[in-house]
Amino acid sequence: MTYAKLRIGQTIGIIGGGQLGKMMAQSAQKMGYRVIVLDPDETCPCQYVAHEFIHAAYDDMEALNQLGKQTDVITYEFENIDAQQLKLLTEAYNVPQGDQAITLLQDRLTEKETLQQAGVQVVPFQQVSTVEQLDDVIQNLGYPFMLKTRYGGYDGKGQILVQSQQDLEEARSLVTVQECVAEQFLTLEREVSLTATVGQNGQLVYFPLQENEHRDQILFKTVVPARVDRTTAARQEVQKITQAIHFIGTFTVEFFIDQSGELYVNEIAPRPHNSGHYSIEACDYSQFDTHILAVAGHDLPSKITLLKPAVMMNLLGKDLDLLEDKFSKHPEWHVHIYGKEVRKPARKMGHMTLLTEDINETEQAMVALFEGRDI
Ligand code: ADP
Ligand code: MG
Repeated sequence: MTYAKLRIGQTIGIIGGGQLGKMMAQSAQKMGYRVIVLDPDETCPCQYVAHEFIHAAYDDMEALNQLGKQTDVITYEFENIDAQQLKLLTEAYNVPQGDQAITLLQDRLTEKETLQQAGVQVVPFQQVSTVEQLDDVIQNLGYPFMLKTRYGGYDGKGQILVQSQQDLEEARSLVTVQECVAEQFLTLEREVSLTATVGQNGQLVYFPLQENEHRDQILFKTVVPARVDRTTAARQEVQKITQAIHFIGTFTVEFFIDQSGELYVNEIAPRPHNSGHYSIEACDYSQFDTHILAVAGHDLPSKITLLKPAVMMNLLGKDLDLLEDKFSKHPEWHVHIYGKEVRKPARKMGHMTLLTEDINETEQAMVALFEGRDI
């Protein structure tokens, strides 16, 4: 399918007005497009950067139609929109990302099944729809295992680590309320991710391999380039994924590397991703720029260049409390603040990117700082 190329002054509709929507909007505006955002929260980060704002629930079909009528292309910033409604939108309006990726990926079970069928290595998993099926999991996967809800999880929400019989009660309660997937718990050597963009002409362009550390299951930092030589293997997995799932725009594949060096695909985010934020300063195109180029029907750059190695640190509410006073002395931190009204200790309020010749040294200094040990 081919879609019209957007012309200067035409309008992009974004479903979701969080930080990803905001950074998409900023790239779009840089290129001369108007932006209309739909979000249920009147105080969301995008409210203050969009040309127009539609205040409505994500499943308000009338509002979604209004967005479709007022815009020339629709994109979304997150995967938990209703797949059926997205399908209707896709049939009526210009939605190059389509609904297939959302349909397959918003359910952890179909996500893993699709990956497996595509010949991609995933962590051994099992469907858990009933409490009884937990017994099979213990039998087949053994302790420890991760129990994850099929739908709606992010930043570790809807997940529990089941280490022994003692955690079973909590596991049973989770399965009683929501269908789950159990997954073998791996001792991770490293986590990496690969962000890529697919253009409407099928062009696929990769960002450099990113090395991630999560703390309390929330991304803590990203170091680029990753200090592990797995770019070729990761790109091969991404290629298989793009052959199995229709993508247009920017997406990210998260990988686990276990202690024996095996590479597993953890999950896919069919949208720009937190681990790609460094690209705003560190690459010649950001993941938001290439996303907008793709949905607007333009050609993509033939390659993306890392201009300088980078360390990206997320700024949660507690990190802002600790570090805000230091910002005025550190212009080199490239601080991004999303503009969320309420600061909470574990809420992503912003991020900062440091460009550096020595990622190890910068990383160490930043970790010390974020842990309250100023060195
Ligand atoms: P989310 O959708 O919340 O990002 P993930 O499945 O990516 O959920 O899990 C968040 C983090 O939890 C991962 O990045 C990893 O650090 C840890 N984790 C998740 N599953 C496993 C696993 N099977 N083995 C080891 N660590 C895991
Ligand atoms: Mg994840």
